[in-house]
Amino acid sequence: MAISLLNAFKKNLPKQRKSLILFLKKFDKKFVYGIQKHIDKASDETWAETDCLSCANCCKVMTPTFTKSDLKRISAHFNMTEKEFYDKWLETDKDNGDKVNRVQPCQFLDLQTNKCNIYEIRPEDCAKFPHFKRKPFGDFNHIHTQNIEYCPATFKFISKLQQSIEEKYNW
Ligand code: SF4
Ligand code: SF4
Repeated sequence: MAISLLNAFKKNLPKQRKSLILFLKKFDKKFVYGIQKHIDKASDETWAETDCLSCANCCKVMTPTFTKSDLKRISAHFNMTEKEFYDKWLETDKDNGDKVNRVQPCQFLDLQTNKCNIYEIRPEDCAKFPHFKRKPFGDFNHIHTQNIEYCPATFKFISKLQQSIEEKYNW
């Protein structure tokens, strides 16, 4: 039987974690000219191999940050005030003041299908996750470092990017 995306990720992460973190850390000090074509290639290859509906780990173990406009849009969808919505599902992160889910898995995840029940109006953070193409890449290396712990697509993407960059540059 084929090993699932999530199980393959959990098996391979411990073997590659240290190397991937060291690779990402170097972006604190390095600016790579021409990196965008490597990012585009690694991203395209990753998505061609990744079926998020067989995973949904981000919705199960992480939380999106809800912006003011997310709160307004999603609470209106449920005919709730923003306060009612907040009181029912959210809390404020003590460290940074972000509005985040109180529980995991996310209350809007259908655990049978791995689909998002509010997909069309989901938080902007969910729509942009896992942030492969945010620029400049070096400003988001800490985000990717966090996300390789939970997201098989990020793990693949950073592995591919590492291979491509280390082949081309004196890293
Ligand atoms: S974005 Fe990552 S964690 Fe979320 S479903 Fe896709 S592969 Fe899984
Ligand atoms: S709102 Fe939807 S996409 Fe975002 S975490 Fe919840 S289930 Fe996942």
